[in-house]
Amino acid sequence: MRNLDVLIIGAGAAGLMCAIEAAKRGRSVLVIDHARKAAGKIRISGGGRCNFTNLHATPANYLSQNPRFCVSALKRYTQHDFLAMVDRHRIPWHEKTLGQLFCDDSAQDIISMLLRELEAAGGKLQLETSVASIEKTGGRFHLATSSGGISAQSLVIATGGPSIPKMGATGFGYEVARKFDLKIVPPRAGLVPLTFSDANKALCQRLAGVSVDALVTFGKTQFREGLLFTHRGLSGPSILQISSYWQEGKPLTIDLNPTVDAFEVLRHARTQSPRQDLKTALAQVLPSRVAEEFSKEFNFSGRLADQSDKKLRHAADHVNRWQVLPAGTEGYRTAEVALGGVDTDELSSKTMEAKSVPGLFFIGEVVDVTGHLGGFNFQWAWSSGWAAGQAI
Ligand code: FAD
Repeated sequence: MRNLDVLIIGAGAAGLMCAIEAAKRGRSVLVIDHARKAAGKIRISGGGRCNFTNLHATPANYLSQNPRFCVSALKRYTQHDFLAMVDRHRIPWHEKTLGQLFCDDSAQDIISMLLRELEAAGGKLQLETSVASIEKTGGRFHLATSSGGISAQSLVIATGGPSIPKMGATGFGYEVARKFDLKIVPPRAGLVPLTFSDANKALCQRLAGVSVDALVTFGKTQFREGLLFTHRGLSGPSILQISSYWQEGKPLTIDLNPTVDAFEVLRHARTQSPRQDLKTALAQVLPSRVAEEFSKEFNFSGRLADQSDKKLRHAADHVNRWQVLPAGTEGYRTAEVALGGVDTDELSSKTMEAKSVPGLFFIGEVVDVTGHLGGFNFQWAWSSGWAAGQAI
């Protein structure tokens, strides 16, 4: 039986940050992970360049049943603190757009930085280790693992969420929470492409690969970013963002050209070029392929001179107020995150420790705090991992 101060399950973003901080404070720390390599999701993140934080991160960028829960950790370990570590390690980076910071070279730079920091602090990492059972007796946690028994004073669950199961992602953290009678906010896929089963499915298929700058609205929530038509439906940043808010059975409104009032453009075109076809006029406000496929799908045809205001309004609404009813999402197979998770009511927002189970901590994506697209999810992993690392 190996005896430790701190055992962390999950060598991802949150687990490694927590391990570094706890080890710096002189705790004996071991991080275990069932994967062959540490931090698989960092490696594939941001298209291989890791969007490691966002300059504009604030609590408003996070979804949670308790929107205030993330405030303390985000305030005590900010994007600027993480950036200072990146700079200390001389990792080249750039701001891509909207405050999103990416590595110039490779996400591996961030992983190597974390592993170097862990080693320097004296923390240990053990890969290819799975957990068979967890018991708490005599104020300590006793684990049976594939590489023997481990006893620890504190146990940190940093196993992330179930998105991208083929990478070894699991719902293990939720099982641990249930075992200790902690409430779970039902998890579901977030930052995920949307799919269709109605006529829009074929329409999206025909337009697969085309992207536009779009304003996507669900209720009071809006995102203006790229939208991509795909073989299965809609994707791109604006769709991924709204997917975290979208509720099944309800429509979304999409403005495919937020820079113009399509009705006014079409009316003007009717005066200037009455013999022009409606389809041709639509190409002034939509990419020509989209104008063509929309015209086919929604029967926009005939000379502009023959179109009533009502007909022009109908066509323009498909540009500025296109209503779509997604059938669902692509699910955990392609989702960037899992929404929901360990109910924040169960945890201290300062330390991430379970209120009813002293010594048990939950950090990162396993907690019911989910960021927008753009580096916010890693910032939550760093901040929550750091907060627990100070307290263990
Ligand atoms: P993870 O990083 O997922 O780490 C969990 C660790 O636990 C893993 O190493 C896993 O192997 C291990 N584990 C799981 N189950 C077990 C078990 N039963 N036993 C032992 N070990 C286990 N966010 C951003 O901010 N910027 C981005 O650019 C970005 N890009 C992304 C791209 C993709 C394709 C995906 C899927 C996600 C992306 N995200 C991004 C989201 C981000 O990766 C996660 O929010 C973040 O990794 C969560 O950190 P975590 O430490 O909580 O969990």
